[in-house]
Amino acid sequence: MSLRLRFFVLLGLAAAAEFTVPRSVRAQNAPRPNSIPAKGDVILLLGTHGGPGLTKERSEPATLLIVDGRPYLIDCGIGTMRRLLEAGVNSAAIGTIFITHDHPDHALGLSGVLENDFLSDDFGGRGRSHTFNIYGPPPTAQLVRAAYNYIRISYSTFAAENLGASALADPFEAHEIDRDGVVFHDDKIRVTAAENTHFQLMPGEYRARMKSYAYRFETPYGAIVFTGDTGPSAAVEKLAASAGVLVSEVIDLGAGANGASTVPGTSREPSANARALAAHMSKEHLPMKDLGEMATGARVKSVLMTHFVGAGSANQFIAGVKKYYSGPVFAGDDLARYCLPAPDTSGAAAHTLAPCE
Ligand SMILES: [Zn+2]
Ligand SMILES: [Zn+2]
Repeated sequence: MSLRLRFFVLLGLAAAAEFTVPRSVRAQNAPRPNSIPAKGDVILLLGTHGGPGLTKERSEPATLLIVDGRPYLIDCGIGTMRRLLEAGVNSAAIGTIFITHDHPDHALGLSGVLENDFLSDDFGGRGRSHTFNIYGPPPTAQLVRAAYNYIRISYSTFAAENLGASALADPFEAHEIDRDGVVFHDDKIRVTAAENTHFQLMPGEYRARMKSYAYRFETPYGAIVFTGDTGPSAAVEKLAASAGVLVSEVIDLGAGANGASTVPGTSREPSANARALAAHMSKEHLPMKDLGEMATGARVKSVLMTHFVGAGSANQFIAGVKKYYSGPVFAGDDLARYCLPAPDTSGAAAHTLAPCE
């Protein structure tokens, strides 16, 4: 290939990469009308694996709550952007993100989601004209600022080349939540936060700066409560009172995982780190029994499990919760969708969670 020809081929590839792809991806990402109804609530699980460390089967925690077609993102683990693409959801439609707590598995996918729409409008993005609002406990503001600075480094190179990022204005607005109560409302939803027990073992000097929340979303079709990561918690049970759906983390501690006094097979005492981890798993997460009891105590109408930790199968998790709770229990997979439908034309309110048709 002559140098001149190679130049034009490269130019064509560059044009395809920089100009055509964002627009075609945007078209592909349009929500599929069959799976996201214009009316009603949809809970779309994007990632259902609890804890850091990537797996092939389940992505890190992230859930999309879609109310009358409008998406709200709850948590944002690594892989969230890839799952949004696979779900056919246009990330540019997401304007509001809620972080339950700033553990790595809930927050480190944020830059990937924010970055996807960072290009300026004429290059298929929306970075110059749209504000993302990110709600979360301290230190979410620090996380958002760091994400912006991280993204900006690479886009500065684009800007230097005149490739669609000439305006590097910060489109991200963090809203830190430092107390329980109503933290957000718009014409579709009202969100109430309650501090849970996920950080209860953290030394006090850190807990003043780092919090972990559960959120209750009041929607036109029912209340949906996200536990976030938590141990048993009277505050979360109260927050979940009579909710239509409890979207909960769950852990299978397995036999003998409640903090052995010696390292299995030896007479050695576990290290301080191992003891802290065992205490964290048993007291700051939610075993099946505790989840079932919380759901019963709160009289929720259904339980949707996500953020799985432990070796149990979906059926074992369901059976483990059903021993303590008599309502419907679902074990969610990545990309599964659950619907709280709008009332039908007869006016009868369904308000019962079920996999979307
Ligand atoms: Zn987690
Ligand atoms: Zn956590």
